[in-house]
Amino acid sequence: MDLPRTADIVIIGGGVMGASAAYHLAKRGMKNILLLEKEEFFGTGATGRCAGGVRYQFSTEINVRLSLASLPMIECFKEEIEQDVNYRQCGYLLIATNEKDATTFQHNVELQNRLSVETELLSGEEVRARLPLMQFEDALAGTFNQKDGIVDPNSVVAGYIHAAQKLGVKALTRAEVTSVRIRGDEVEAVETSQSRIQTRNVLNAAGPWAGLIGEMARISIPIIPVRRQMFTTNPLKEIPENFPFVIDFAQSLYFHREGDGLLIGMSNQHEKPGFDQTVDEAFELENFEAALARLPLLGRARRASHWAGLYEVTPDAHPIFGGSPVKGFNICAGFSGHGFMHGPVAGKLMSEYILDGEFSTVDVSMLDLGRFKEERLIKEYNVV
Ligand SMILES: Cc1cc2nc3c(=O)[nH]c(=O)nc-3n(C[C@H](O)[C@H](O)[C@H](O)COP(=O)(O)OP(=O)(O)OC[C@H]3O[C@@H](n4cnc5c(N)ncnc54)[C@H](O)[C@@H]3O)c2cc1C
Repeated sequence: MDLPRTADIVIIGGGVMGASAAYHLAKRGMKNILLLEKEEFFGTGATGRCAGGVRYQFSTEINVRLSLASLPMIECFKEEIEQDVNYRQCGYLLIATNEKDATTFQHNVELQNRLSVETELLSGEEVRARLPLMQFEDALAGTFNQKDGIVDPNSVVAGYIHAAQKLGVKALTRAEVTSVRIRGDEVEAVETSQSRIQTRNVLNAAGPWAGLIGEMARISIPIIPVRRQMFTTNPLKEIPENFPFVIDFAQSLYFHREGDGLLIGMSNQHEKPGFDQTVDEAFELENFEAALARLPLLGRARRASHWAGLYEVTPDAHPIFGGSPVKGFNICAGFSGHGFMHGPVAGKLMSEYILDGEFSTVDVSMLDLGRFKEERLIKEYNVV
C-alpha cells in the first residue's frame, strides 16, 4: 500500500500502544489515521517478546487504577474486538524473602484492598503450601490475586490492528519513520525513507525506541532501552494446570506455565542500557541456576526456546502520557516492563487526550512528560 501524502494523525509504532490507540481513535470517529511500523510485522517489538503477564498487583494507586480499567477490557476483548486473546486467570504469586519486601507487600495489599482489589497476604508457610514443587524455605510472605494471569500479546495486537483497519485506519509495516518535521513549535510532517506525510499530529508509541523519536523532534524523553530475556522448557507433566505466575521478588525471577511447559525469566540487574536484542547466554545460565534452586525438577527439563526484548524504562517506572512542548507531538510510552497489560486502556486514554484534551477514563495527568524536570516522580516498587 502506498503511503498517503497527508494524515490527521500519524501513530509511530505498531506495538500494543500504537494498535490500541489507532483502534480507539477510529472508534471515536477520527478519520485519516495512519499507523507506521518499521518492522515486517506488527507487534514484534517489546509487545511480541513480553511474558504476557497481566496483574492488579502494583504498589502505586495510579498503576492499580490503570489495571482496574485495562484488565476488564481484556476480559471483554473477544466480545468487543472479535479476537480470542486466551486470558488465563492463574493468579500472580509474589514472594518476599526479606523483611523490607515483606513489609512493602503488606502496604501494597492494604492499598490494593482499599481500591477493591482482592489481593491476599500470605505467610511464608502459606506460600510453601501453595507451591509444593518449589523450594521456598526462605519465604517470609507472599501476595496472591486470582484475577491476575496471562494473555497472548500477539492476539491483542492483531485484534486491535484488524479492528482499526475495519474502521478505516491505514496501518502499514516496513514503514520506518526517519524524521519528524517541526515548524515553529508545531508538528508539520513525518518522513519515512519513501515519502513525506503532512500532518499536525503525531503519537509517539515507539516503546523502547520512543526516545529516538523524541530526538527527531528535539524533545528529550527519558526512556531507556534495557534488555530482558527468558526461556521456555519442554512439557513438564508435574506442573499443574493451575500453576500461578510465581515471582521470586528479590531475584526478579519468574515462572509461569507456557503450553505444557514453563516460561522462566529473570531481570539482569547489571544490564547496561542499549538496543541489543540477542540472548546473553552467560546470563541465561545464571537464570537457569537460580530457577533450578527454586524448582529442582528443572534438572530434567530441556530448553525449548529463548529470546530477548527491551524494557522501556523511565526514571520512576511509570509511563508517559500526553503532550509535549511541541504542539501536536503526543507520547504514550515508557511503561517500564509492565505495559502490555495497560495497553488497552492506554490507547483509550490517548484517544481521549487527543480528541478531548483531557483524560476521562483514568486521570493520568500526573504522568506527563513535565514531571521529570519538575521532580514529581511517583516510584513503582513492583517492577520485575
Ligand atoms: C522480556 C519482556 C517481558 C515483559 N513482560 C511483560 C509482562 O509480563 N506483562 C506486561 O504487561 N508487560 C511486559 N513487558 C513490557 C511490555 O512488553 C511493554 O511495556 C509493552 O509491550 C510496550 O508496548 P509498546 O507498544 O509501547 O512498545 P513496542 O511493542 O516495542 O512497540 C513499539 C513499536 O514501535 C516500532 N518502531 C520503533 N521505531 C520506529 C520508527 N522509527 N518507525 C516506525 N516504527 C518504529 C517498533 O518496531 C515497535 O514495534 C515485558 C517486556 C519485555 C521486553
